[in-house]
Amino acid sequence: MKIDLHSHSTYSDGHLSPKELIDRAHNMQVDVLALTDHDTVQGLKELQQYQSSQKRALKLISGVEISTAWHGFDIHILGLNFDPDNVAFLQRLQEQQQRREERAQKINSKLVKAGIEGIYTMAKSLAGQGQITRAHFARALVKKGVSRDIDDAFKKYLGKGKRAHVKAEWIAFPEAIDWIHQAGGRAALAHPGHYDMTAKWLRRLVAEFSEAGGDAMEVNHSHLSGQKKQLLNELACEHKLLASAGSDFHFPNRWTELGRVAAIAENLTPIWHDWKNIEEHRAL
Ligand code: AMP
Ligand code: MN
Ligand code: MN
Ligand code: MN
Repeated sequence: MKIDLHSHSTYSDGHLSPKELIDRAHNMQVDVLALTDHDTVQGLKELQQYQSSQKRALKLISGVEISTAWHGFDIHILGLNFDPDNVAFLQRLQEQQQRREERAQKINSKLVKAGIEGIYTMAKSLAGQGQITRAHFARALVKKGVSRDIDDAFKKYLGKGKRAHVKAEWIAFPEAIDWIHQAGGRAALAHPGHYDMTAKWLRRLVAEFSEAGGDAMEVNHSHLSGQKKQLLNELACEHKLLASAGSDFHFPNRWTELGRVAAIAENLTPIWHDWKNIEEHRAL
């Protein structure tokens, strides 16, 4: 069974609309998909509606990727299989969206100070009705000819400690975990091997995440060395965390594809082990 619990649409920094995403997932023979846009569940309804009109076997799981801050690191927490109509949760996400907007304006002020005008307007138009992210700023900087490519835009302006970097005022992750739990979902630590931190800090992160009631962590995400993968496996075991798996698909490229996720090691329990909707799917 192909299960992908981490993906993005045009409601945040993904390049495909929810419809295009689900069509692609279907073509890639994905059985279970979670759309996990940054700090929004706006795309879920569209995904659900389109899916029910298609009558395909693909199962959808509600998802979101919440931005949090921890000791100066941006830590992403995935909310999975929650009630997407939970009013308190939706309100909290709206507050996150407000923080995104405020940060975007601060990023713009820094760019203007660096002599680069008009990027916010462009980034906002690229984001459309979706959440504005640094990825949109990066695209705008490339479009304007300021940066050579997206990587260059992050290296020079948007990355941590760079000219237009703004220390985000995100919530702490125990809050995100509580929000997700109160909406009936599970909280998974996203791409723990992607944070630019030493193994010592990573151990501390996973320990604190687990102590705060976190349920799961991604163990097989992209760009992982064998050694890091081993460490993630060890940490999930040590802290009795469930294992989550997702491609973090933003757009088709050499490294990421919907449903392209390595299998979870046998010594770990997958996050979906007791999800009814997946068991039902198995019975199909
Ligand atoms: P934000 O949540 O607004 O801070 O934006 C973070 C998003 O930007 C991530 O989810 C990635 O999709 C993207 N991103 C972050 N760093 C890089 C990078 N160095 N190169 C390309 N994309 C990046
Ligand atoms: Mn992203
Ligand atoms: Mn992320
Ligand atoms: Mn993501």
